Amino acid sequence: INSKLPTVGTTIFTVIGALANRHQAINLGQGFPDFSAPQALLERVDYHVRQGHNQYAPMGGVASLREAIAAKVEQSYGRAVSAEQEVTVTPGATEALYCAITACVRPGDEVIVFDPAYDSYEPAIELSGGRAVHLPLLPPDFAIDWQRVRDAINPRTRMIILNSPHNPTGATLSAADLDSLAELVRESDILLLSDEVYEHLVYDGKTHQSLLQHDELAARAFVVFSFGKTYHVTGWKTGYCIAPAPLTAELRKVHQYVTFVAVTPIQLALADFMTSCPEHHQQLAAFYQHKRDLFCEQMAPSRFQFSPTQGTFFQLMDYSEISDQDDLSMAEWLTRERGVAAIPVSVFYKEPTTVRYVRFCFAKEDETLTQAAELLCKI
Ligand code: PMP
Ligand code: GLN
Repeated sequence: INSKLPTVGTTIFTVIGALANRHQAINLGQGFPDFSAPQALLERVDYHVRQGHNQYAPMGGVASLREAIAAKVEQSYGRAVSAEQEVTVTPGATEALYCAITACVRPGDEVIVFDPAYDSYEPAIELSGGRAVHLPLLPPDFAIDWQRVRDAINPRTRMIILNSPHNPTGATLSAADLDSLAELVRESDILLLSDEVYEHLVYDGKTHQSLLQHDELAARAFVVFSFGKTYHVTGWKTGYCIAPAPLTAELRKVHQYVTFVAVTPIQLALADFMTSCPEHHQQLAAFYQHKRDLFCEQMAPSRFQFSPTQGTFFQLMDYSEISDQDDLSMAEWLTRERGVAAIPVSVFYKEPTTVRYVRFCFAKEDETLTQAAELLCKI
């Protein structure tokens, strides 16, 4: 077949997940919790299903959820957004990202992405006939080099994709980063797509810097979030996009024909729970910081090298003292021979790279992390 995506294979999350299952490895690969969502949230789904709320929701999302989202955005980021015109509930952050890119990128347009980059951005750009321009995030802290961004911008630049807290490195953008970005795009019509699905997972007393807090940036941004990460329900595939009304209108033109709506009883349940239990997201950073610290403490005696991640539920580990095999081989070896699955980081780069990192997900029961660390410390 004359593929439109000739270089795309099966995602690494599927590949490593299958290998982990086959070898019954502890799965610290794909990012998902191995613990339950809050009971009160699960009960609300059951309630709404039984109440018969099982038909199509309004295209932009159920009203109570959009209102709860608008209230949370105002409280968290000080921005008043219209629940009707600026909030769209989507089947996962992935769909919001896809719709924003598809709605805005034309053949020949350039989109700046930073490598390592989450794997769903580039195929969406390519399917729109656009070209991803890859700029590197440089270790050890994986910061953006704003001078390189300035040099990369040209009249074809249509969009810049940001991701903070960043998957897979855990890096976070600072307020100064946002000011640098604002300065670069000020005189242009460049759009921004900000993937903030790990908004609540920021550690060591820092706070998440959302584009929504920055007037100039918010005026040209699609900002994308995921309930999966915040409420421990990645399998519910429910997220949302905040964007100014004219951008939201364009996003919805695509959304209405890609999926039309997200699942109704799930949206109703999330609305109830967000409103009745704001403590959940307020305590999430502390909840995950405990897991990060536990995992890092238990990995300290190992031969992996790392500094504790600043954000997300991912920890990168440098294995160069253990092996000089490439990171895909290393991840497969860890999964097959050592019983702990990890994600190789080179797959998040466009160009071949010799990075010697693997990514572990610590969204796991403390006991799971302890067992995994014991196995990894024996290497
Ligand atoms: N962006 C990033 C950076 C992610 O890590 C994920 C989670 N897998 C997503 C988007 C997609 O989120 P969702 O599962 O809500 O589609
Ligand atoms: N975002 C998740 C991760 O990085 C995976 C999502 C997926 O499997 N597509 O692990």
